[in-house]
Amino acid sequence: MSSTNEDDPPSPPTAVAPVELVPRFVGRAETEDDVASRRRWVEARTGARLTHVGAMSTPIADLSGNIENPIGAAQVPIGIAGPLRVEGEHARGIFYVPLATTEGALVRSYERGMYVLTRAGGVTVRLDRDQNRVSPTFLFADVAAAAEFASWVEANFTEIAARAEATTRHGRLLRIECHPLGAHVLVDFVYSTGDASGMNMMVNATEAAAKWMVASAGALGFDIFSGAEGEKRAAPRLFAGGKGKRANAGALVPAWLLRGALRTSASELERFSARVAAGHATAGTVGTQGQLANGLAAMFIACGQDVANIVNAAAGITRFVARGDDLYVSVTLPSLTVGTVGGGTGSGTARECLDLLGCAGAGKAKKLAEIVAATLLAGELSMASAIVTGELPAAHEALGRNRPDTPAPR
Ligand code: NAP
Repeated sequence: MSSTNEDDPPSPPTAVAPVELVPRFVGRAETEDDVASRRRWVEARTGARLTHVGAMSTPIADLSGNIENPIGAAQVPIGIAGPLRVEGEHARGIFYVPLATTEGALVRSYERGMYVLTRAGGVTVRLDRDQNRVSPTFLFADVAAAAEFASWVEANFTEIAARAEATTRHGRLLRIECHPLGAHVLVDFVYSTGDASGMNMMVNATEAAAKWMVASAGALGFDIFSGAEGEKRAAPRLFAGGKGKRANAGALVPAWLLRGALRTSASELERFSARVAAGHATAGTVGTQGQLANGLAAMFIACGQDVANIVNAAAGITRFVARGDDLYVSVTLPSLTVGTVGGGTGSGTARECLDLLGCAGAGKAKKLAEIVAATLLAGELSMASAIVTGELPAAHEALGRNRPDTPAPR
């Protein structure tokens, strides 16, 4: 076990109180015993009992590259919602969707929307863009040098792409866009990342290309991230796509289903959506939608996606348009960041949940994106209906309360 930490300077400049470092097992892969011993170390220091944290069934060897200093796993319950009929280009048929959440009423809400959409004939989904990007900043002495670099980049795309793509078998550099900013140039490296969400892949590729660009074009240096890439940030820029799949999901819901299953109507929901758009304009939200983050979080946790990408994936637009007494419902997700290879997708509960959707492994990322989009549409329809009928507070009261001072019903 190691008690050193590379973050510690070798000799502090002034006398500082000693700190006790989390145990590490240097120079070898973690074992189950290492995890248990680190967990006991935390228990001894905090007095907390970590019985449930320690009840992890995924072998630690399967989580290499996913976690440092492991002590166990967080257990988030998974509910299943469906049936959901999806009519995509990659996902077709009936799906039962795993949702990991502790928000009572959430699974029921999505399930209700799925039932209605499925009875209505299913959700049509189309992806029209599949890209991801990293946007480093290159540094120059002045505006003139920055402008010259921007022209140089355009002229040298082929060589830059070769440097980037030499680091990856599946990543492809689609284009580069330069944005001079004073003496800096912000450069969008836009990639196709196959079935991986691609952040590690793209960062590696971009770094290799950027080092060559600095050496060849006389830049003073570069920062690998400028913040403009929209990774894990809500920003209007996301509506042009470029942070994952751009998805549209829609369905025509007939009046009899709106009335019979949701106790509402097309005109009520259309008027509601106009009121909500005004509310969102007042708040200055990025996009206008009901609860995209709820379905995204629940599916991302279940399916091993990088949960922090919800911040960019939840930038979307939900629309309810009356067509006579029927209602056309749609959701637009410009930056849906998902993968079925790499990251947290390959093991444990995530792999099982991807399996139950038929989305595990290579060739499945677009299918997963279509199922996510259809699921989110179900949540939008259900939530809006619950609000206009005044049923939302009662549903949460019945299904989603855990007052700590009130015993749960047995
Ligand atoms: P990864 O697990 O780092 O790498 C996945 C690798 O799988 C790819 O690089 C690719 O290798 C390989 N692969 C095999 N079959 C593939 C297929 N069909 N399609 C695409 N790739 C295939 O995953 P990642 O998606 O690049 O990165 C996601 C991870 O990055 C997440 O864990 C996320 O949390 C993390 N992340 C990193 C940063 C960062 O700054 N680096 C920032 C945010 C998040 P080849 O490249 O050789 O083709």
